[in-house]
Amino acid sequence: MAVKVAIVGGGVAGLTAALTLGNLGLDVIIFEAKSAFISGPPFCHLHAGGNLYREISDSQCTTLLRQSIDFAKLYPFSIDKRPTIFATPIYDPHEPLDLLDRLEILKQEYKELIQKDNTNKVLGEADNYYEIFSKEELLLLAKKEPLKNPQNSSDWMIPFAKNLDFNRIKFPIILIQEYGINLFRVAANGGLALENMPNVKILRDTKVIDVNKSESSYIVEYCGRESSKVEVDYLINAAGFKTGVIDDILGVEEIRLVEFKAAYTSIWEDRCDVWPEVIFHGIRGTNRGMGQFTPYCSGVVQLHAMTPDITLFSDGLVSSKGSSSYPKLDKKFIDIIDNGWDIELRDSRTKKAVEYLSNFFPKFKSAKVASKPLFGAQQIPGNDPTLRVAEVSFPLDRYARCEIVKVSSVNDMTSAIVKDIKKEFSLEFKEEIFNIDNLNLLDEDSITKRAKDIAKRLNYPEILGERCRKL
Ligand SMILES: Cc1cc2nc3c(=O)[nH]c(=O)nc-3n(C[C@H](O)[C@H](O)[C@H](O)COP(=O)(O)OP(=O)(O)OC[C@H]3O[C@@H](n4cnc5c(N)ncnc54)[C@H](O)[C@@H]3O)c2cc1C
Repeated sequence: MAVKVAIVGGGVAGLTAALTLGNLGLDVIIFEAKSAFISGPPFCHLHAGGNLYREISDSQCTTLLRQSIDFAKLYPFSIDKRPTIFATPIYDPHEPLDLLDRLEILKQEYKELIQKDNTNKVLGEADNYYEIFSKEELLLLAKKEPLKNPQNSSDWMIPFAKNLDFNRIKFPIILIQEYGINLFRVAANGGLALENMPNVKILRDTKVIDVNKSESSYIVEYCGRESSKVEVDYLINAAGFKTGVIDDILGVEEIRLVEFKAAYTSIWEDRCDVWPEVIFHGIRGTNRGMGQFTPYCSGVVQLHAMTPDITLFSDGLVSSKGSSSYPKLDKKFIDIIDNGWDIELRDSRTKKAVEYLSNFFPKFKSAKVASKPLFGAQQIPGNDPTLRVAEVSFPLDRYARCEIVKVSSVNDMTSAIVKDIKKEFSLEFKEEIFNIDNLNLLDEDSITKRAKDIAKRLNYPEILGERCRKL
């Protein structure tokens, strides 16, 4: 008889666990409290080297690189193949080339990953992992016309160079092969594949309300579209920022942080279609935090600015306290998560985000609010808010607790879960887990159609379901 597994939560962690275990032939039931998969915090950036985060260790960066390559191989239809430009504002205390030693380590690491397995070559040639552009080169590129189909790094720099206020930035500028991830396409790709697995039961709009552990099983009680109880052999807690709620029910004590953040959607009518992503480095939490300009198709741009009045919130980071493992966000954040945004707050924060980025791209001032923000709360295990790599832990027998901080960690997370299930139930699986066949059988058009439907259903512009460039 197949091992029966319950998964609480259908974010990227729960969805990927369901796909992996379903693919291995286990009897899986996945509960998602909301109506769609991946309704929690958003994601848009494949952190293939962690270069957004100057404060993290080189080892976190190399892990993020390897994990990002695995993620791109697992969800190839979700990757938007456009590089990221890293610029350092003149007011920033760091210099652009402070990143250089780390970039060389990452380039070498990428070379070794390709030598081990040529299918790892998803970020182009290792020698082109990063490229450096001087002010003089950019001034020349600023005179060229942007291209609909950029072929090389210089082509990608053209829209940036044409729009940049050269007085606001230190030189040189660095272009790195860190791509975009489209969350609507991950939801579409994963959802379509999961629906094709007869051994996986999907319960959307259904919340797990209680869990009881016995000697050899867990009884999971749920309510929503269906209300009942189910007995399972193995429990996966993939409840995102509510992971601590299930821990508390099971009496497992843990220290963790939860942070509420938001990214804003704007529409910039003047924008030519194909842009790279652009990062303006900064010190997180100050009024000069990192700015992130993330292009989607047809002039839609998603914006982050790591300042307290744009992406961050002054009381948006909370820690677990006492014997509870569930850090409690202020009610105003829970209201936003459960009931949506107040229009005034949405508009004022989106306008501040547009103003922030137009310090560097003056013409961007004309951008307008496109929709409600992409937002949510995420957990960070432990008490270090700068942690960017975490996967899963096993605090009880037959209980896996997902703890990803970046979505690229899901393959390592599922590998560890599969290993634990093998050990617990003395199983041998024939297949290795990364090739989830059903994921790659799908085609671009059906994924795009489903991704646009999801975006529309969640009240975002449906164009967010499209990607500008295939992997
Ligand atoms: C603004 C912002 C930007 C980000 N950008 C990036 C990025 O560019 N790249 C990146 O890699 N990461 C990014 N992240 C982090 C990323 O969003 C998270 O790491 C990731 O989405 C977490 O996925 P998860 O599946 O663990 O949790 P979630 O996505 O939170 O999924 C948990 C799910 O469980 C469900 N659930 C909870 N309790 C129950 C219950 N009792 N019963 C049933 N269902 C339940 C919830 O409804 C939810 O859908 C960003 C985070 C934020 C906030």
